[in-house]
Amino acid sequence: MNPDLEKLILLQNIDLQILQISKALSQIPAEKERLEAEFNSSIAEYNELRLDLEKLEKQQKELEAKLKELDKQHEKFKKDLMKVKNEREYSTCLREIDTAKKGIQQTETELLELGDKIDKLHAEVEKRRPEIEERRRKLEDQLRQLDEEYKQNKQQIDNLKTERELLISNISKDVFSRYERIARLRSGQGLAEVVDASCSACRMTIRAQVLATIKRGEEIVSCEICSRILYYKAAVEKGAVAE
Ligand SMILES: [Zn+2]
Repeated sequence: MNPDLEKLILLQNIDLQILQISKALSQIPAEKERLEAEFNSSIAEYNELRLDLEKLEKQQKELEAKLKELDKQHEKFKKDLMKVKNEREYSTCLREIDTAKKGIQQTETELLELGDKIDKLHAEVEKRRPEIEERRRKLEDQLRQLDEEYKQNKQQIDNLKTERELLISNISKDVFSRYERIARLRSGQGLAEVVDASCSACRMTIRAQVLATIKRGEEIVSCEICSRILYYKAAVEKGAVAE
């Protein structure tokens, strides 16, 4: 068998593998994004509960500060009461004490109600947390796996490219550029196997005389329709045995 043809078959095998792995590789970032988006939407409700809880806890802090301030005022008015000089000041001070007291009572009631709401919401968040964490762990595992796959694919491509360079250096320059030209035009496939006396890529039936030449495997013959270089498997195997 023509030694260049034999190497072209190996080359095409490598090129198709590179293509296939590159395609898988290029899909990994989108797959990672998809998994992350899926996770985020699955925990949206949980995140909302957590935000609600944060809001209520902030309100609680504000009310507590307000209560402290009212207590302070209350104490101050009580002291003022000792220092009043006349009836008018006395009744004003009493009114202020009363207002502060009412404010304190109201704030305490609000704090109690808020505390109940916070407890309920907190319990709900805690109930859901384990499942969310499990999902997060699963997502991280999947992402790690995809990163690993990406790395492996890249390594495989590098190895194939090294193998390719070595192979190319042993193919006649004109045969190789012919292969490259066709491969570029034909989605990376510069060669086509002959099956049932037709080009397996474009299905064109091959004339008997050309077929005989291809079967001998000594010349580089292109398909008349798709230009791919044709080979016959039996010729390849015979070549392999003869080696
Ligand atoms: Zn063809």
